[in-house]
Amino acid sequence: MDCKLPQSATPLIPFHLEHIVARQHGGSDDPAGLALACDRCNAYKGPNLTSIDPDAQAIVPLFNPRAKKWEDHFELRRGQVLGKTPVGRATVRLLNMNAPRRVELRLAAGADVTEIRIDYAPGYQSRT
Ligand SMILES: [Zn+2]
Repeated sequence: MDCKLPQSATPLIPFHLEHIVARQHGGSDDPAGLALACDRCNAYKGPNLTSIDPDAQAIVPLFNPRAKKWEDHFELRRGQVLGKTPVGRATVRLLNMNAPRRVELRLAAGADVTEIRIDYAPGYQSRT
């Protein structure tokens, strides 16, 4: 099982049950609004719902793993997660997904591939 926010391949790191919409913004504990996230992604995301696309300098929503497909917004290249869209770029930056240690972990785990299997939280129907 991998982190769903939306980083993949953070092996050996325990997961948190993340509220995609934080309770302080009206999010509930309904399983449809939860996703597994590694501790780093969960800490960087916090209660944020939006961030700023570093290219366009525009406020955009963060990636929602329940509503969007990972591969539409991100790709892995040489261990780095690259945002392909404003949502992807803003999420990569806010979650600090390319911190050197995280890139090292992905490379060490052999995650430098174009397709990553994603197993979502309970109730998720795989799109693959
Ligand atoms: Zn993560």
